[in-house]
Order: sequence, then structure tokens, then C-alpha cells
Amino acid sequence: MQISSEMRELGRRAARELAPVFEKIDEVALENTERVLDAFRKERISEAMLSDSTGYGYGDVGRDATDLIAAKVFGGEAGFMRPAIICGTHALTIGLFGLLRPGDTLLSVTGAPYDTLGEVIGTAGTPGNGSLADFGVKYREVPLRDGTVDMAAVKDAVAGCGATLKVVFIQRSKGYLNRKTLTVDEIGEIARAVKGWAPHGVYVVVDNCYGEFTETREPAAVGADLIIGSMIKNPGGGMADAGGYIVGNSRAVELCGYRLCSPGIGTEAGASLGQNRNFLRGLFLAPHVVAEALKTAHFASYVFDALGYKVSPSAFERRSDIIQTVSLGTPEGLVGFCRGIQYASPVDSFVSPEPWAMPGYEDEVVMAAGAFVGGSSIELSADGPLRAPYTAFLQGGLTFESGMLGILSAAEYCGKAK
Ligand SMILES: *Cc1c(COP(=O)(O)O)cnc(C)c1O
Repeated sequence: MQISSEMRELGRRAARELAPVFEKIDEVALENTERVLDAFRKERISEAMLSDSTGYGYGDVGRDATDLIAAKVFGGEAGFMRPAIICGTHALTIGLFGLLRPGDTLLSVTGAPYDTLGEVIGTAGTPGNGSLADFGVKYREVPLRDGTVDMAAVKDAVAGCGATLKVVFIQRSKGYLNRKTLTVDEIGEIARAVKGWAPHGVYVVVDNCYGEFTETREPAAVGADLIIGSMIKNPGGGMADAGGYIVGNSRAVELCGYRLCSPGIGTEAGASLGQNRNFLRGLFLAPHVVAEALKTAHFASYVFDALGYKVSPSAFERRSDIIQTVSLGTPEGLVGFCRGIQYASPVDSFVSPEPWAMPGYEDEVVMAAGAFVGGSSIELSADGPLRAPYTAFLQGGLTFESGMLGILSAAEYCGKAK
């Protein structure tokens, strides 16, 4: 690889100085691995459960076991994990349509949700496409204040919604916003507070994307009624070919099952299409793989900070998701960063990323993704819009070794900040 000896030396220094941080990450991975193994033992995972079903998928013991494991590992009463869910947005759509009825109100307390949810809620897109708004579901949001949840405003909003309030929505990860990621404890506090303020009862729903296994508990264990995410991010451990999951309290998960399939059938059918083995193996690997991705993020933060770029979070800051941002300052810097990541990828390393006008985005976007699974972002990947301050959003890394090489390669392409 074309990485200078200077850059390799910076990499060695980063790994040395980050050793205490890595030790903490390893402790979390160990505890999470034990939780996964305990769940596997309690559900008596057997070789027969790794096999496959087709058609209706009746009697698919592996699928049923995977659902139970998902619930146990994430601290919910029930759950499901299915390859028929094509992405995180799809899983979140199932969750919201599963719970909300005409006349109900959805309240987001972390400002505007992830971009793709605008058309689901009906704040973006074409009326008549079947958004929640089309079905008479009302929507309110409480903007973040100084990058964090504005609890006083949330209290007022809960009171303002009155008995129509059905779902309080929390996005754990900063996603592509410039804010802090919420910790599991913080989500627990918000859940407790809103439940206290809404005497008629509400469902607390958490967009858990990119947060799984970065801490030793998930939000379902501290009061969230549903947590929702993608299997080609953290919980798939790089093994899942596709899929999403929903975990939470029994009634909420049952309602989502009716929306996933149909009322009556719910989660009792559905062919696993060869993913039982991948899901179970992925969950087994996920605590370790997420640790590798976290180390890669810390490493990137250290290296690019040392080169004079603005990074977030900082190298020694504790994390609750796997996303790292690096602001490159120029279009050439951002494109170079993505080219460096792509060059060090196992798949499509010979491709040179170019900015393009992606549908739904205001500015051109450049992406690096040399992954075994299309669009998987637990694998080392980076992207960013071509607009000041030219920030790259970086995440993933199935192994810390490949993550390090990817970051050093990107550093080589970018050089010192001007
Ligand atoms: C990735 C992500 C989603 C879902 O995105 P998909 O591309 O549909 O899987 C939703 N919310 C957040 C915060 C995310 O990071």
C-alpha cells in the first residue's frame, strides 16, 4: 500500500496513545459477548436452527429463535429480526405505522429525524404517497437546544399534544447532524420523564441505528418501548446480507408484526431465506466487530486531529455510536479522503469515487464503499456532501487492522491541513 513511513509512524503513535481507550472498548465487548452467549444458551441454539426455510416459513425454528435472541440481547420482552426488512428506514416505517392510528400524534424530541423519514412522516415528499400524514397522523417536533434534548420544551409539547400523543420518537445517533449522540442512560431519563408527563400512556420509540453494542445495554432495557435498527449496520456483525430488527415491549412488537406481515399472521410466518445462520453468527460477532469499528473511529479521530483537521468526537471522547466526522475544509480534501478509504477496501479497491448528484440531496455527494454487502456501513465506509466545511462521515471497519490501513491511506491522500 502507498502509505509513507511518516504516516505509518503517526499510526503507531495513535495506537500506542489510544491503548487505555481500547482497553475500555474491549471491556464493553467482553460484557456484550457474555450477554449474547447467555442468550444463545438460554434459547438452546442448536445446529438445526441455522438452517433455512422457504415459502410461508411455517415451523422455521431458527427464525423463531433469532427473534427471541434479539429480544433477550437487547433487553426487550419480544422482537423480530427479518431479511424481508430491506433497510433501517423500512424497519422504522414498520414501527411507526405499526403503532400510530388516524388522529394520533407523533412527537420527535430530537429535532428532525433522519432524512429518509421525512417522506414517511409526510413533512417531505408528495402528498398521496401514503405517508403517516396522509392517514391523518399528526406530527410535532422539539428542536434540539445547544445540540441536546430540550426537556422543558418537551414537557410543554407533551402537554400540548394531550391525549392524542401516541409515540415519542428519539434518535440515538447524531446521524448526519452536528450534535452529540445520546447515551443509553440519557435515553432512559427521557423515557421516564415523558411517561411521567403523559398520564394516558405513550410509546417511546428509539431509532437505534449505529448505536448497538457500543454500550453494555440497549435503550429497550431502560424504558424504550421499541428500538429499531438495520442488520447491515452494527447488529449484523458484517454477516447479515440484508435485514432490520424491532425489539421492545410485547404489545408494541406484536402490532409491528401485524404491520410487517398482516394482522392475524404477524411474526408467526415468513421464510428466513438463508439468513438464520447469518443473523445468529452476526449477533455472535457483533460485540467484537463493533469494538473494531469503534477503535477505527478513535484512530481516525487521533490521526486527522494530528494532521490539523477538525474532528468529532475527539480521539479520547467516549462514544455511543460508531460515526466519526472529519472536516476536510476543501472539496479536493473530501474527495481525496473517500478515495483513500476506497483504495484500502477489500472490494472495488481499483475504483475512484466521484461526486455525483444523488436524488434527494441538495449538494453533490461523494462516497467510499468497498464492502462485501452492498451499502453495508458496519464495513469501513465514508461519505459526505460537497459543501463547506466538507465533512466526511466515516463509520465501520470489520477489523481494526483493515480500519487502520484505510485511515492511514485516507490520511496519505489528504496530507496535512493547509
Ligand atoms: C442508517 C440510519 C437510518 C436508516 O437508514 P437506511 O439507509 O434506510 O438503513 C435511520 N436513522 C439513522 C440515525 C441512521 O443512521
